[in-house]
Amino acid sequence: MTVHMLPGTGYDCNIFIVTGDRPLMVDTGSGTRHARVLERVTKLLGGAKLEAIILTHRHYDHTGGAAALSRALNAPLLVHKDDAAPIREGSTRDTEAQMFGGRMERAEVNELSGGEIFSTGEHDLEVIHTPGHTIGGICLFDRAKRILLSGDTVFAGGVGRWDLATGDHNQLVESVRKLSLLDPLDLYPGHGPCALGDGGQQVKDALTYLGVI
Ligand SMILES: [Zn+2]
Ligand SMILES: [Zn+2]
Repeated sequence: MTVHMLPGTGYDCNIFIVTGDRPLMVDTGSGTRHARVLERVTKLLGGAKLEAIILTHRHYDHTGGAAALSRALNAPLLVHKDDAAPIREGSTRDTEAQMFGGRMERAEVNELSGGEIFSTGEHDLEVIHTPGHTIGGICLFDRAKRILLSGDTVFAGGVGRWDLATGDHNQLVESVRKLSLLDPLDLYPGHGPCALGDGGQQVKDALTYLGVI
């Protein structure tokens, strides 16, 4: 009953493996460390078949490795419908790969719209649409265990930037407000350290940071 975090190095995002009979991966990093990531994920899975790879949003630091990991682990990719096209098209511009000095490999993705629940057998993860950092950003929330995987919407000690393409400050405020109502216990963000036990406070602090409260 665990969320394993592979901490991101450099600009790469944190990668998560959510355990159970049907384990899920959340985000893939940019793919620049593909072999190392694959080795660690394979070890964590311990022979279990990965059910799916869920991408929190379109950005290259989260999705650049998606095509190669999806192939290597034989797992489908899932992303919110509003962020699907740039990944499907391998858009260097719209995934911000250009900003990171990388090239985006196109990947087949299945679309989410929010509200879906994925059960690993140990965790039921609900997809929560949280636009603001990008228009198709999502978070994943385990209501029973109050675990929030927050992508680049909220970090321990901050929020995602809203000045990149499709970002929107007002939408980000609404999304963070929505997350604060969930009152999470454990926060697993897309970058930086996780916050275990005081996730709710971190989300409230994010609203303060946004100048809302
Ligand atoms: Zn990121
Ligand atoms: Zn991002």
